[in-house]
Amino acid sequence: MLKSKKKMTLTARILMGLGLGLIVGILLNFTGYGDFIKDYIVSGLFYIGGQIFLSSLKLLVVPVVFISLVVGTSSLGDIRYIGRLGGKTLGLYLITTLLAISIALVIALFVSPGRGFELVSAAEFNAKDAPALTKVLIDIFPSNPIQAMADGNMLQIIVFSLLLGVAITSAGAAGKRIADFFSDLNEIVMRLVMIVMEIAPFGVFFLIAKVFAEQGFGAIVPLAKYFFTVVIVLFIHAIFVYSGLLKTLSGLSPVQFFKNFRNPIAFAFSTASSNATIPVTLEAVEKHCGVKNSVASFTIPLGATVNMDGTSIMQGVATIFVAQAYGLDLSLTQLGMVVVTATLASIGTAGVPGVGLVMLSMVFRQVGLPLEGIGLILGVDRLLDMLRTVVNITGDAAVTCIVAKSEKAFGRKSILC
Ligand code: ASP
Repeated sequence: MLKSKKKMTLTARILMGLGLGLIVGILLNFTGYGDFIKDYIVSGLFYIGGQIFLSSLKLLVVPVVFISLVVGTSSLGDIRYIGRLGGKTLGLYLITTLLAISIALVIALFVSPGRGFELVSAAEFNAKDAPALTKVLIDIFPSNPIQAMADGNMLQIIVFSLLLGVAITSAGAAGKRIADFFSDLNEIVMRLVMIVMEIAPFGVFFLIAKVFAEQGFGAIVPLAKYFFTVVIVLFIHAIFVYSGLLKTLSGLSPVQFFKNFRNPIAFAFSTASSNATIPVTLEAVEKHCGVKNSVASFTIPLGATVNMDGTSIMQGVATIFVAQAYGLDLSLTQLGMVVVTATLASIGTAGVPGVGLVMLSMVFRQVGLPLEGIGLILGVDRLLDMLRTVVNITGDAAVTCIVAKSEKAFGRKSILC
């Protein structure tokens, strides 16, 4: 009882940090500030505080994913189960992304955000080449687990942890001892997550205050139609699609789901990074939603790496916006190509800030849009990145709950069922 009260307080404190950060940032931006505030507060205190918080979060990602996935896999004991879990999860991730990009295209075509947009000056954007598919596939398999961890290469860490977990299961008494060791280690790492959560209200405040002090809303005005089209589609997808899927596929309560998922939402919004949010997402789906570690430890890191519904929504709307701004009409075939490439691009997007925009060049190349068109939407991308990251991680958690329900992997205490 005492514990749940404390958790409530922490959530409230994090939300308060977020709200205060918004207010302070917007006020500073609105009133304008001199060199002193800029050097010592915005680029000083806010920056340092925010970066320390981000580093502490990132510090947790690799140990949490590695240890909890080894614990999860070694408790399953059956490699066929992992195959089934993987198939279901990837299938659902794909379906939600296809739905996201399709809704984005339909609404963007209806709203026509780019019609009448004046191309005042040529936009500038240095597009990077998207990696080749062959390389992407080969790179899933690690040749050096230490390197994979040092690089934070999530897919390689997942593959290594799964293999280790399977080996532990089949190693008899020795495996049992190591499994117990990892299980203890998992307890300790989750404590570490709780410790970092304690500084979260301040960290969230610093990150948000800095972004809004610097960013302001001025950049939105000329791009308002584009900006709000993305926001509306993100909202529709998060509320209606996820709630609908949770309810129809598993009979789970969407209201409870969103209530239990407030902490990760605040983290994703302030960090704009699905990856950095993994420890908090895992904590929320396991402790608050009641999903067993055997499912969540696999689906959450995988989702943070390959499932980016919010990113694909931005990419869909951005494609229509830029095409219209340049006076180009996209054929039905080209729209089909946008669906396929935006899905692939969002799978290839790493869960770190701003990469969705870089991967957008892959979609533009495919449909023959000018790459410098990406420069048109640069000014509002940071704000949209925060919002789409929220949708990205909410999608991972919703699919995790659906898969968990179908695998009967909910703890008895779960309040979603
Ligand atoms: N920031 C997003 C994420 O971490 C990726 C992106 O769209 O840039 O999920």
